[in-house]
Amino acid sequence: MPELPEVEVSRMGITPHLVGETVAKITFRTPKLRWDIPAELKQMEGQVIRNISRRAKYLLIETDIGSAIVHLGMSGSLRVLDAEIAPAKHDHVDLKLTNGKVLRYNDPRRFGAWLWTEDGTHAALGTMGPEPLTDEFNPDYITEKAKGKRVAVKQFIMDNKVVVGVGNIYANESLFSARIHPTRPAGKLTHKEWALLVDEIKQVLTTAIKQGGTTLKDFSQADGKPGYFAQELLVYGKAGEPCPNCGEPLEEQKIGQRNTFFCAECQL
Ligand SMILES: [Zn+2]
Repeated sequence: MPELPEVEVSRMGITPHLVGETVAKITFRTPKLRWDIPAELKQMEGQVIRNISRRAKYLLIETDIGSAIVHLGMSGSLRVLDAEIAPAKHDHVDLKLTNGKVLRYNDPRRFGAWLWTEDGTHAALGTMGPEPLTDEFNPDYITEKAKGKRVAVKQFIMDNKVVVGVGNIYANESLFSARIHPTRPAGKLTHKEWALLVDEIKQVLTTAIKQGGTTLKDFSQADGKPGYFAQELLVYGKAGEPCPNCGEPLEEQKIGQRNTFFCAECQL
């Protein structure tokens, strides 16, 4: 599933091909992805794409009259191709440009979304916490936010209302690096521990974006799709393997229905 780093790398990958270009035509080959595709998206035809921004795992393709909101769901991907290249299976949306290129959206499982907003707000975006890579996400903010909370720290940092885009992989990895046990009640962490954890979350996401930027295929390549990049992970998916720090076998446990990997020796 595309996590925040993949979405950010997608944003960086498509931006140079789209910004400043004019939309010639938008085509849907399915009426519905996760939600119905709104007819309002047709208004993009004739509009200049001003910017591609990201909010959590949503991409906003901005024009002067509104923005398309794109979510990659479980299996979605975006590519910029020559418009003459015929669409393949699961190519559900085409945003054709006047320069002969097309932004093509492929999504085998159809859990993604194409929506429309005039003012940048949408029910799908909900009420979200700060972006993890901004200064707004800092130890003071999260210490205050966590006060009195008994929920496990792992669930807490994965809550979009607290901070957006910390997916399961990154929650596991950052807790390991900060040496904090994932089941600790969020309200019991000290300011010093939060400072460490905030730092590790930023680090792990930044590294993934950098890695993705270098390993992803060109977004304008027709063969193969710009899929999800392999990452160097320390604990995620490695139950029973030796802890990279102390050598004891890593453990696995479900927290809030999500698989959680940790070292009981190193994480307190
Ligand atoms: Zn260990």
